[in-house]
Amino acid sequence: MNDVSDERAKYLHGQPKDLTVDQKFRLIIRLLRRDFPADIPIKVRRKTAEEIKRKIFGWCSLANSGKSKSEQYFLITINKSCSWAQQFDTVLHEWAHALTWNEVEQGKDHSDLFARAFGKLYRTYIED
Ligand SMILES: [Zn+2]
Repeated sequence: MNDVSDERAKYLHGQPKDLTVDQKFRLIIRLLRRDFPADIPIKVRRKTAEEIKRKIFGWCSLANSGKSKSEQYFLITINKSCSWAQQFDTVLHEWAHALTWNEVEQGKDHSDLFARAFGKLYRTYIED
């Protein structure tokens, strides 16, 4: 795949272009945890399209939502059968949902607040 978003995403924080997708993925998660922590932990897992059984890039959910805050965490699932550019965009998108979870709970998943959070993440890790 050689689309514009692949060209763009490989400049992630000026890291060498020859990192594998797995290495780049671990790197972006490390950066997100450092730069944009949520008030509860964010766990990330990657599954193949076959394991997910749905045509979807990824999603974010709140685990243990009925329990006490200390037991809760966000769980982001990423479809690792997608290209690096898609996984990169998706993890930023889902991370922005975790950061603006109140909006999700009010049924405003892709609100202006979400868009600002997503834009901030996006600008942080893309080199123009
Ligand atoms: Zn969304």
